[in-house]
Amino acid sequence: MFAIAARRLGYRVHVLAPDDDTPTGQVADVEIRAAYDDLDAVARFARGVAAVTFEFENVPAATAEAATRHALVRPAGAVLHTTQNRLREKSFLQAAGLPVTPFAAVRSRADLDRAAAELGCPAVLKTAAWGYNGRGQFRLESSADAAAAWNAVAGTESVLEAFVDFECELSVVAVRGANGDYRDYDPVRNSHRNHILDISMAPTGLAPRVEQEARAIARAVLEQLDVVGVLCVEFFLTRGGELLINELAPRPHNSGHLTIDACSCCQFQHQVRAVCGLPLGDPSLLRPAAMANLLGDLWAEGEPDWAAALSYPQVNLHLYGKLAARAGRKMGHLTSLAESEAAAAERAASARSALCGRP
Ligand code: AMP
Repeated sequence: MFAIAARRLGYRVHVLAPDDDTPTGQVADVEIRAAYDDLDAVARFARGVAAVTFEFENVPAATAEAATRHALVRPAGAVLHTTQNRLREKSFLQAAGLPVTPFAAVRSRADLDRAAAELGCPAVLKTAAWGYNGRGQFRLESSADAAAAWNAVAGTESVLEAFVDFECELSVVAVRGANGDYRDYDPVRNSHRNHILDISMAPTGLAPRVEQEARAIARAVLEQLDVVGVLCVEFFLTRGGELLINELAPRPHNSGHLTIDACSCCQFQHQVRAVCGLPLGDPSLLRPAAMANLLGDLWAEGEPDWAAALSYPQVNLHLYGKLAARAGRKMGHLTSLAESEAAAAERAASARSALCGRP
């Protein structure tokens, strides 16, 4: 989606990835297959381009540094370094005085026992690195689950988080230019299934105070991290009305996919503009919108019935070109526009059900 947005603006796109025939490679001019830690390949790649950006944050800091010798790298490697590790990310947010889910660092079984006593249960143990979509997470109902939890994370550095009894989840996608120029999209309300984003909708329908506060926190995050590019802040809204940051994604985010159809300048075009030093665009939401993720599970009985979903009015299909459909793997999404966000969400969900012949 980034490569397509770059193409619309007349750029040529080179991609470096550890696989062949990647979704980005399918629409790029040049696809280089190399491991992220193959620094010679990274240097060759960076010499061939003017600017480098990332599709996800788990690129080693040394890779970003190697690219920086030859091209503009946005966001900077330091932003990836902070956000690719939950412990570093949460410590950064806490030190910046921003609200995060109560947490404690866990590096040993004794740490875990101490943290569970301090935070109370239920709690969630998450590996510090390589965690997203609920991977590397274990819920502790009571301190008696500590041994099983420590086993589940295979004794790796982790974070114990208090389990938040939230009212809802929301996110703010925002963008910052190299000159400090700043734009944010309307906050998006998100619902997850099995820890994976299921449906997003905008506007959120939440009190203006909550939205204003979420936007102010997101701005502080982008400014304090000195991000150039798009960043998403995911929040829990507690039943007491308090906003807590769950996590950061220093890139266009799944909850911002509805901006492709619902805004004049989508999150991917904004990423291109920020990375290339162009003026930022208009993030206004033109109509209430929703997005329903399409996971690999939908392929369990064979190819989904695309025509059935596309027969819904104001529903658009976005497929990423991933070759293998595995359970839980994000293969694409549907967006829907309607007179209200609830109607848009209902339509996107119905169109998705129709893919597998359900009414
Ligand atoms: P994560 O990969 O950490 O973003 O977690 C994925 C989803 O799991 C979140 O969006 C929540 O729905 C749920 N979750 C994660 N951590 C917590 C928590 N501390 N309290 C309540 N729900 C959580």
